[in-house]
Amino acid sequence: LIAPNLIEEHRICVCVRKRPLTKKELAAKDLDVITIPNTEMIMVHEPKQKVDLTRYLKNQTFCFDYVFDEWSTNEMVYRFTARPLVETIFERGTATCFAYGQTGSGKTHTMGGDFRGKNQDCTKGIYALAAQDVFLMLKKPNYMKLDLRVYATFFEIYIGKVFDLLNRKAELRVLEDGKQQVQVVGLQEREVNCTEDILKLIKVGNSYRTSGKTSANAHSSRSHAIFQIILRREGEIHGKFSLIDLAGNETGVGTSSRDRKTRLEGAEINKSLLVLKECIRALGHNNYHTPFRASKLTQVLRDSFIGEHSRTCMIATISPAMTCCENTLNTLHYANRVKEL
Ligand code: ADP
Ligand code: MG
Repeated sequence: LIAPNLIEEHRICVCVRKRPLTKKELAAKDLDVITIPNTEMIMVHEPKQKVDLTRYLKNQTFCFDYVFDEWSTNEMVYRFTARPLVETIFERGTATCFAYGQTGSGKTHTMGGDFRGKNQDCTKGIYALAAQDVFLMLKKPNYMKLDLRVYATFFEIYIGKVFDLLNRKAELRVLEDGKQQVQVVGLQEREVNCTEDILKLIKVGNSYRTSGKTSANAHSSRSHAIFQIILRREGEIHGKFSLIDLAGNETGVGTSSRDRKTRLEGAEINKSLLVLKECIRALGHNNYHTPFRASKLTQVLRDSFIGEHSRTCMIATISPAMTCCENTLNTLHYANRVKEL
């Protein structure tokens, strides 16, 4: 069933993106504790204290496929991560791109873009940049003759439940047939013809996203958001690109909360991120025990982990701030584990 060259085919690219200090962090005199010696290395200078109270910096170094510094743009990040995967879906494959990191580290900025300014000066994220290239590729003679159509879906997973962000957050059921084909029943698939269509859908979807209160950020996203670009040929799926803005991975959220719902959120997020790591690590290995079903996220994304011609990338987003050090180190350790196959 599984092609022998799967390991080569199913490569995962793992990158890190550092964002600049925000105005708020600057105002609070927070310090930048991250240095990036070159495009494949990142160092965390963690402040520590010895028993005798003398202070020192503990330096830790990590290596990745690519490390983007605070001056990198969404276009640059896109070019090295998701851009190579656009071709995959035209060649009948499954492409998947994850943004992983603590709340406030820049996942949504990277994936969905920033629309907080006026409509005209929005920063396009990877959803829109990928769509833009899909429309360009469609015009290539080779692909034009296939008469492909482009569709988009946008949904979120919150405490194990699936909600359609293009249909007023209707709750949807996930079904698995005898052949282990996973289906999100009733998920709206909108046909799109240009980048503007995509931008409109992103705005609609974002207005429905679940947000909750955490100590880190009052508008933090405690849900996984999944944006898909689907190519169809004569009704049949030709290729699928899933772009995922994962829920914040910060530690401590929920675990110490007195609010039951917040605790549940935290536990569910931790579990789904652990299962995700296991599923990614199993990529390309002839492993029939991959725990897809252990979380809604991996169950819904099953195709991403098994396809003969599937490719995956992960963008770990981090804050440069000293106060975020613990979460940053957790993010880098996780990304490191995903990288090692
Ligand atoms: P997350 O989705 O991980 O919670 P956001 O994308 O909402 O984080 O980013 C938090 C804040 O930081 C936002 O105000 C956003 O505009 C800003 N930000 C994030 N990444 C960058 C970046 N690379 N450059 C400039 N500002 C950024
Ligand atoms: Mg977000």
